[in-house]
Amino acid sequence: MTVSPAELTAMARARELGAGVLGSTSPNPPVGAVVLAVDGTPVGEGATAPPGGPHAEVRALTQAGDRARGGTVVVTLEPCAHTGRTGPCADALIAAGIARVVVAVPEPTELAGGGAQRLRDAGVDVVSGVEQAEAEDGALAAWLTGARAQRPHVVWKVAGTLDGRVAAADGSSRWITGPAARAAVHRLRATCDAVVVGSGTALADDPQLTVRDTGGPDADRRPLRVVLDRRGRLPRTARVLDDAAPTLVSAAASPRDLLAELFGRGVRRVLLEGGPTLAAAFLRDGLVDEAVLHLAPKLLGAGASLIGDLGITSIGDALTLSVVDVTRLGGDVQIRMRPNRHTGGAGGSADGRS
Ligand code: ZN
Repeated sequence: MTVSPAELTAMARARELGAGVLGSTSPNPPVGAVVLAVDGTPVGEGATAPPGGPHAEVRALTQAGDRARGGTVVVTLEPCAHTGRTGPCADALIAAGIARVVVAVPEPTELAGGGAQRLRDAGVDVVSGVEQAEAEDGALAAWLTGARAQRPHVVWKVAGTLDGRVAAADGSSRWITGPAARAAVHRLRATCDAVVVGSGTALADDPQLTVRDTGGPDADRRPLRVVLDRRGRLPRTARVLDDAAPTLVSAAASPRDLLAELFGRGVRRVLLEGGPTLAAAFLRDGLVDEAVLHLAPKLLGAGASLIGDLGITSIGDALTLSVVDVTRLGGDVQIRMRPNRHTGGAGGSADGRS
């Protein structure tokens, strides 16, 4: 497969465009697209609009206008061939006279598949699988989890001290981390469709779970606030029940049931914010796809641990994670990780993908 330097630059830009709309497109994928004119100059770009709006390719074509004719479209996901709320992108590309399409990730669903074939049938040169791993690990990760496992992608976020405590012995837990880490949490929420806590956290901390102070274009995002409250303990005065964002109080019997309920509502990316008991239940069931740890350089020596009982009694059975990246946030440290999928041993569910 031959791909030009201009096309690789455009693919990196397309990934950025997709990342910019993460949290606003579900249940549709956050796709980015760039149009290159015949001479390789970028003449249009676009990202998926909120549901019901145009897909990335159509927005990029609209911006490019006549300059798209004979040119190339570089896109993070195979153009769709089905007529949903918008027309098929494959047809729009053909109508615009596009000569070549460079794709990162082949379409994984039957429903929207066939785009590449339709383009080839119309004489368009299609290259697929270009920097596919980078695109799959980026903005498309959550949507791909949904397409393959039929459940939302779960990001577990937790803030703790060096000794893994989320609260002091007296129960106090506010401001373990500093303002930079707290701002990062708001930016993280803005990329998610739903924010989930257990009733214990809702009772102990009374969080509002909204997106605030991101200082960016995502400050108006209102992810669904979800409280798992099987025993009806949440008081009517809880801040999570205010009108700042929609709220779901769920009595689902298990994390898997809760995720099924959320998936049915179009949720594709979930931020799991606590507490330790609920997080342990998700981890035991193999339902955590990413972990974001905000580590404060503080020691408490006693108090609640950041994760509840995982049913692990031997070091050989430890649940292991792989570090994706480490970032300083003011005086704190953010570590992004992915749990290593394994079978057998404690917490040893299969990888959850069918
Ligand atoms: Zn499309």
